[in-house]
Amino acid sequence: MESRTIPIESDSLVDLNVRSDVAVIFCQDPRIRSCHKLLIRQGLGLGEKDEEYVQLPVLGGGAVLAHPQYFASEFDLIRTSLEVMREHFGVSRLVSIGHERCLRMSNFHLQIDREPNPDSALADMLTVRRMFEERSALSQCPVRKMFAEFEIRLDVILMKFPTGNELKYLVID
Ligand SMILES: [Zn+2]
Repeated sequence: MESRTIPIESDSLVDLNVRSDVAVIFCQDPRIRSCHKLLIRQGLGLGEKDEEYVQLPVLGGGAVLAHPQYFASEFDLIRTSLEVMREHFGVSRLVSIGHERCLRMSNFHLQIDREPNPDSALADMLTVRRMFEERSALSQCPVRKMFAEFEIRLDVILMKFPTGNELKYLVID
């Protein structure tokens, strides 16, 4: 076993007093990594530094929240992350970003719907919004339970798959 070190100029790499009140779920799709950064920073105004918000990259993005029964491991990861981030860093807002032409969600919908559905990305994000709005209703849905338990603000965003020279997105309210 070899111990290695990297020199740093000060202890500025560690900020023990960091507060991040926003957590952002987005897809890990490497094709649109830069688009997510642009949307988060310029569209949502969440700052220039990655540290200013908690990143929750999940393959499928915020759309996995629409189908917690099929994406149980992702949902557990999101839930656990939110619990810890809320308790220790003051997270009080969750931004759920889905995107068009998501490979994972397209495959999922092909299996479930048995035919291509061009509107599935929008439908998924509308479902996430509806689950949040209905959070006070008695339900076995784990997402509704999570939203009912966590007093957080939710923003639901659908990012258009980029074509041309503009990045378009829908704010779903
Ligand atoms: Zn995706």
